[in-house]
Amino acid sequence: AAKRAGRNAYAVFSPSMSRSVLEEAQQRVDMELGLEQEQFVLLYQPVVDLATQRTTAVEALVRWQHPEDGLLSPYQFIATAEANGLIVPLGRWVLREACAQLARWRRETPAAAGLKVNVNLSARQFQYAGLVADVAAAIGDAGIPAGSLTLEITESMLMEDITGAIETLRALRALGVRLAIDDFGTGYSSLNYLKQLPVDIIKIDRTFVEQVDTDADDVALVDAVVALGQALRLQTVAEGIETEGQWMMLRQIGCDQGQGYLFGRPGDAASVPGLLIREPAPAEL
Ligand code: C2E
Ligand code: MG
Ligand code: MG
Ligand code: MG
Repeated sequence: AAKRAGRNAYAVFSPSMSRSVLEEAQQRVDMELGLEQEQFVLLYQPVVDLATQRTTAVEALVRWQHPEDGLLSPYQFIATAEANGLIVPLGRWVLREACAQLARWRRETPAAAGLKVNVNLSARQFQYAGLVADVAAAIGDAGIPAGSLTLEITESMLMEDITGAIETLRALRALGVRLAIDDFGTGYSSLNYLKQLPVDIIKIDRTFVEQVDTDADDVALVDAVVALGQALRLQTVAEGIETEGQWMMLRQIGCDQGQGYLFGRPGDAASVPGLLIREPAPAEL
């Protein structure tokens, strides 16, 4: 169907070439209604300290409870939302909901006092001139400390316009929020750029973690990224940890934190307080 829509369709709708223009248009209408009717939901996945296994943060991951198509993953609608611009209001909703939810956990659960929340930004949202104001409003309205919000961005979002990106990152950081580079290693940022970026955290992409317990090349790569993080005084977070073997290797390498099915799949907001209840440390017994 995409082929029949003609060559221009490729240029305009390149993020999801597998779908027809008509389907894209229909999804836009559905999405506007979905935003109005609050069909989007956030799931939260724990980010743990690799030494203690304690949950330090949760990453908000959006889903769309579509009235006909069921629960949709971000891969099924984020690219369309990017293309049609609805990512800006959708992203704003994610930001506000994640901050409001963090405030609820902090109010209701003593163990959530130091919990942080991570929110993913999309390219278009990052370029949107109102982003800094949106972030400030989300934090302010929720009444959470700015330092408890981490915004995740990818290397490719930064490289399009590095000067403008650094300016936006500085403005966000001036609010007090923390910044993470997501999927690190899959983009093409040079060491020179990385040094200039005002960021706090590097998230090592799952593709490097997958075989870190079996492949010596991957050990060397992850080791190099962790060393780089230490040299630049950045925290390192490994994504997609599924096995004890991966966990042990990453601990040995000195990676600070991790995320993955081994520690917890994305779950609804009600599942988060249970992640925070832990065995008392020996000193507390
Ligand atoms: P991401 O930010 O890199 O998030 C990590 C993805 O890996 C999530 O997929 C998560 O469910 C999955 N994951 C976590 N642990 C494991 C593991 O151990 N094994 C495997 N195989 N996968 C694991 P999800 O939720 O489908 O999200 C996919 C991507 O969609 C995210 O990648 C992010 O780029 C984007 N996304 C999600 N929520 C939002 C959002 O609110 N706004 C924007 N702009 N993008 C979002
Ligand atoms: Mg992320
Ligand atoms: Mg990632
Ligand atoms: Mg990823």
